Amino acid sequence: MSGWSGQVNRAREFLFEDSLLTYDYDLFVIGAGSGGVRASRISSSFGAKVAIAEEYRVGGTCVIRGCVPKKLFVYASHFSDDFEDAKNFGWTVPKAKHDWKTLIRNKDTEIDRLNGIYYTILENNNVELFEARAEILDKNTVKVGDKTFTAKYILIATGGIPIMPDVPGIEHAISSNEAFYLEEMPKRVVIVGGGYIAVEFAGIFNGLGADVIQLYRGEQILRGFDHHVQAMVAQEITKKGVDLRVRSNPAKIEKTANGLLVTLEDGSTIETDAVMYATGRRPNTEGMGLEKVGVELKANGAVIVDELSKTSVDNIYAVGDVTDRIALTPVAIHEGMAFAETVFANKPRAFKHSDVPSAVFSQPPVGSVGLTEAEARAEYGDVDIYKSEFRPMKQTLTLGSERAMVKLIVEPTSDRVLGVHIVGADAGEIIQGIGIALKCGATKEQFDATVGVHPTLAEEIVTMREKYTGE
Ligand code: NDP
Repeated sequence: MSGWSGQVNRAREFLFEDSLLTYDYDLFVIGAGSGGVRASRISSSFGAKVAIAEEYRVGGTCVIRGCVPKKLFVYASHFSDDFEDAKNFGWTVPKAKHDWKTLIRNKDTEIDRLNGIYYTILENNNVELFEARAEILDKNTVKVGDKTFTAKYILIATGGIPIMPDVPGIEHAISSNEAFYLEEMPKRVVIVGGGYIAVEFAGIFNGLGADVIQLYRGEQILRGFDHHVQAMVAQEITKKGVDLRVRSNPAKIEKTANGLLVTLEDGSTIETDAVMYATGRRPNTEGMGLEKVGVELKANGAVIVDELSKTSVDNIYAVGDVTDRIALTPVAIHEGMAFAETVFANKPRAFKHSDVPSAVFSQPPVGSVGLTEAEARAEYGDVDIYKSEFRPMKQTLTLGSERAMVKLIVEPTSDRVLGVHIVGADAGEIIQGIGIALKCGATKEQFDATVGVHPTLAEEIVTMREKYTGE
């Protein structure tokens, strides 16, 4: 017996031997986001009796107020560039006008549709859903609303929530949660932060026609990314009109007759219509009774887990953003599947948090996988760098000045490619395939032996022969 059916049968034998009948459920999942839903449905497919609790909307941050609506907003905002670019390809484009309410309405319809799909997934997989806040009473007991249930295993998958720093007037600011539901599109926006969300929303509001000022407290945005990616994105978003101010941070925010007045730490002021904070997210663990049952947390509230996603309490596991490992939906999904196999298929599997490809949907977007140059140098000493910066073909007929970049980091002894970083159109799409190559341990020689697809941005990945020796 092999494959999925073999696993399911082994799982059933395992469950039967373990006689789980003394509990209401084999598994109670708290949080119906990407990680929780995947874990519950796979566990159920292994024969476990599963319940899931969700206090907000089934689907989680990514579907309801994260990746999905964000990407729709990115598409919406990109049209302003597209209309401009079209002119030199021979199109006559009348003055385009954007209607924010239409975007919000259509986005809401799509999110409702996806929300419905998640209900169906749970139903079709015999996962019982409780739409209420859950609290852990003891290691086998969960309180949901006014009901109490017992479960052999509990999985915490409650995700994260935006951090709003303690700045005077912060109550006038919004986070990405509210940005998806604004009644009106602000004409002037101040965005605070230099991470994924800040950069993505700076591009969204800028593309939709707002005057955007992005404030970042440090020297260079996108901390943790390869330094050439950081510099390239900062340069390109500035060229597109985002007023990026580094070493800048609000000291206070006040409401005025004309909107909001932001006073910066250096004393200067900005008048704006909206202030959006994208200053990180923290694990959503407050008031869940975790400390009471002995689940150890990090100082920032993250659930501490081992490589099998087990907490300090033997039958309680945690996956996704709440564990503060890599806060990405596909990672939470993999952790959820590995959990289900470990616990309900008697097949312990640790998900490896390395070579995880990711994209930043800035404009232009970023695709990255593997090590940054700095990480590679720290781990391997000398590394070879291949870097190409160029004007993408589409731009040759447009008035745009957008540039693209492809960078490879190679370990010279083994010739293994350690990292690939792309800035340019469709970088997120391209990096997915490169992620497979890195997972397979591909060498630079194998990259070079791969025939390029012409004419594309991606062909640069397999055509760079000269080592880059600059900074
Ligand atoms: P990030 O951690 O990426 O960035 C937070 C930013 O806010 C940093 O620039 C940080 O500065 C700054 N910051 C933190 N605290 C303060 C403060 N008190 N005052 C001023 N600035 C501050 O968080 P995001 O909120 O952008 O995103 C959260 C996570 O969600 C990401 O890490 C990512 O994993 C995930 N995500 C992924 C996306 C994708 O895959 N495309 C899209 C959106 C989110 P400093 O650098 O100095 O610490």
